[in-house]
Amino acid sequence: MTHPYNIAVIGAGMAGISAATALSRAGHSVKLFDKSRGSGGRMNSKRTEVGDLDMGAQYFTARDSRFRHELKTWLDNGWVAEWAPALYAYDQNGLRSAADDQQRFVGAPRMTGLTRQLLQGLDFASQTRISHLVRHEDKHWLLVDEQQHQHGPFDRVIVATPAPQAVALLEQSPQLAHAAAQVQMQPGWALAVAFSDPLPTPVEACFVRAGALDWISRNSSKPGRTGQDSWVLQSTPKWASEHLQVDAQEITRELLVAFAEVIGCSLPEPLFTHAHRWLYARPADACNWGALAAPEKDLYVCGDWCMGGRVENAWLSGQQAANTLMEKR
Ligand code: FAD
Repeated sequence: MTHPYNIAVIGAGMAGISAATALSRAGHSVKLFDKSRGSGGRMNSKRTEVGDLDMGAQYFTARDSRFRHELKTWLDNGWVAEWAPALYAYDQNGLRSAADDQQRFVGAPRMTGLTRQLLQGLDFASQTRISHLVRHEDKHWLLVDEQQHQHGPFDRVIVATPAPQAVALLEQSPQLAHAAAQVQMQPGWALAVAFSDPLPTPVEACFVRAGALDWISRNSSKPGRTGQDSWVLQSTPKWASEHLQVDAQEITRELLVAFAEVIGCSLPEPLFTHAHRWLYARPADACNWGALAAPEKDLYVCGDWCMGGRVENAWLSGQQAANTLMEKR
């Protein structure tokens, strides 16, 4: 390495953390910013009195050899664990077992556990929403947050937010802003529900192909989860689009009706419910950009939307942004 850069990464989801980790390992000075209280973005878990509930990504797969290599370290460290649920599928013909050979992994003991571990040793500013970037003397970047506080100067910036939130941050590069503006992200509703006694069903995970629901998982069947019999029900993007402004109580009612239909049993009164609306759950289409860059402006972009809406792609996109940045002399 010729000389270390001072680099800002905006967004501490899997893509931003992947980029930050790679750059930090290479000896650069990296500062991560996120508007939320913690890290993980859409790999989110909610801490509740009935246990930790994964409200965003449910599990992840590992197909690319570079990601599998990294995953091995995470597994060895106990930051992730394999989850092999009793898998079902539901469609117009009803419920059937859908066991497959796919390996599935989850953060341990909750989905956010992984990014919390990866953050160790990185400089992280939480609860800092960056509203725009200022180019200073065509040499440095200053980040301005929503309180009008300035951060920097930085030699390089990586934007690692969902596409709609990246557009405003990329206005100094019309080409990158235009690319991000083309990406449509779909919404989703996630409902967590817990019962005092386990529901009488063998289902631990289910791909749903009829009605409001898209996916069901028995959260409490994931490794390391303690607490009550808890479930996370996720809607289809279409149903979420049609119910964006509906209140959480009505969402809860409708998704519980759909849930009971899938598992074929009537539900007791839940001990706990929590509905979460994701405005930008996943990209509508898969792009194959990997990452985006305006090297002449020292500006780089990564995120699942640059590769396809999965955890593994977010990690790969972050790696690509970091490598592209380091290739520029
Ligand atoms: P994010 O995780 O969204 O991270 C972006 C970060 O940027 C966020 O933390 C956000 O707070 C921050 N941010 C945004 N704007 C600003 C700003 N202006 N200033 C500062 N910070 C900002 N993937 C799978 O592989 N398997 C699954 O089972 C799966 N299920 C899913 C279910 C749901 C309900 C959802 C929502 C997603 C699911 N995904 C799944 C997709 C997966 O979660 C994402 O692909 C991945 O987590 C995206 O990571 P990312 O770093 O690109 O973005």
